[in-house]
Amino acid sequence: MRADLHTHSFCSDGTDSPAALMRAAVAAGLDVVALTDHDVAVGWRAAGAEAGALGLGFVPGMEISCTLDGGGVHLLAYGVDPGHGPLQSELRRVLDGRNERLPAILSRLRDLGIDVDEAAVRSVAGHAVALGRPHVADALVAAGVVADRREAFVRYLMPGKPAFLPRYAAPLWQMLDLVADAGGVSVLAHPWARGSRAVLAPEAIAELARLGLTGLEVWHHDQTERDSRELLALARDLGQLASGSSDYHGLGKVDHDLGRHTTPPKQLERLLTAMDSAATAATSADPNVCPMPAVLP
Ligand code: AMP
Ligand code: FE
Ligand code: FE
Ligand code: ZN
Repeated sequence: MRADLHTHSFCSDGTDSPAALMRAAVAAGLDVVALTDHDVAVGWRAAGAEAGALGLGFVPGMEISCTLDGGGVHLLAYGVDPGHGPLQSELRRVLDGRNERLPAILSRLRDLGIDVDEAAVRSVAGHAVALGRPHVADALVAAGVVADRREAFVRYLMPGKPAFLPRYAAPLWQMLDLVADAGGVSVLAHPWARGSRAVLAPEAIAELARLGLTGLEVWHHDQTERDSRELLALARDLGQLASGSSDYHGLGKVDHDLGRHTTPPKQLERLLTAMDSAATAATSADPNVCPMPAVLP
C-alpha cells in the first residue's frame, strides 16, 4: 500500500489538473493519494471522481498557510468541510492576501526593469484560485527573465530578495481549532523544511499536540534523513502520526516526483481513523458540517 499524502494541482501552484494528477499517481504505482492544494478544496470533486474511476484511494486535504511567532508554517488539513463558514472566511483572507500582494510584487519587479503585468501572470496560472509567487515565477520564465521557478525565487521572490513581500497567513493555534470545528484532522507539513525548525522546536510541537495537532509530516524532500529520524522519535513521544509525501507540484518543482516519499500503511490507517472521529465529533456539534470522506481502493 503506497500512499502519498501531500500533492498540488493547478488549482493552486501545481501544473497538473486534479484528474491528470490522479492518473499520474496510478502511473507512479501509488495506491492512495491526497490532493492538498494551498488553501483551496476546489479540485477535490474532479480528483475524487477520477480516482474512483481508476480504483485509486483518495484523501481530500488542503495545505493552509499559517503563522506562528512571526514564522510561516504550513498545516495539512484532511477531511475538513470547506463550506464551514468560519474556516471558509479565514481561507478567504489568505487567498485575498495573496491576490492583493500581486500588484506590489509586480511593481517591485518594474523597479528592477522587469515588466510583467497581471494578465501575464494570469495567463500562466492555470485554474489557480489565487495568484501567488510561483505564478509570478512562471511569468518570469515565460518572459525569458529566468530559467525556472527556482531561479525566480532565488533572485527575486524569496524573503530578503527585492520582490519579496509578506502576505496574510492564519494564526496556527486558531487554525487548529477551525480545522477541528470543520471536521478535519491537522498534520504539520514539512515541519523542519527551509529553516522552519527555528519556530517549530520540539517544545513548540509538543504544545501544538496539546492544542489538537494529530500528526507530523516526517518524510519530505526538504527535510534531511536526520530531520526525519528526529521527527519520527518526536512523533512517537507525542503520540502523533507520522506521514510522508512528495509535495508534488507537477512541473512546478523538481525532485518532488509522485511517491518520492510515502506514508507507511499503519500511519495511513491512523489518519483515516482520526478523520472518522473528527468528522463524527464535528457533525454531532454542527449539523452543517459534512466533510468529504476518504475512499480507499
Ligand atoms: P505564496 O503562498 O504565494 O507566498 O507562495 C508560496 C509557495 O511558493 C510555496 O507553497 C511553494 O510552493 C513555493 N515556493 C516557496 N519557496 C520556493 C522556492 N525557493 N522555490 C520554488 N518554489 C517555492
Ligand atoms: Fe506550493
Ligand atoms: Fe508547504
Ligand atoms: Zn505543499
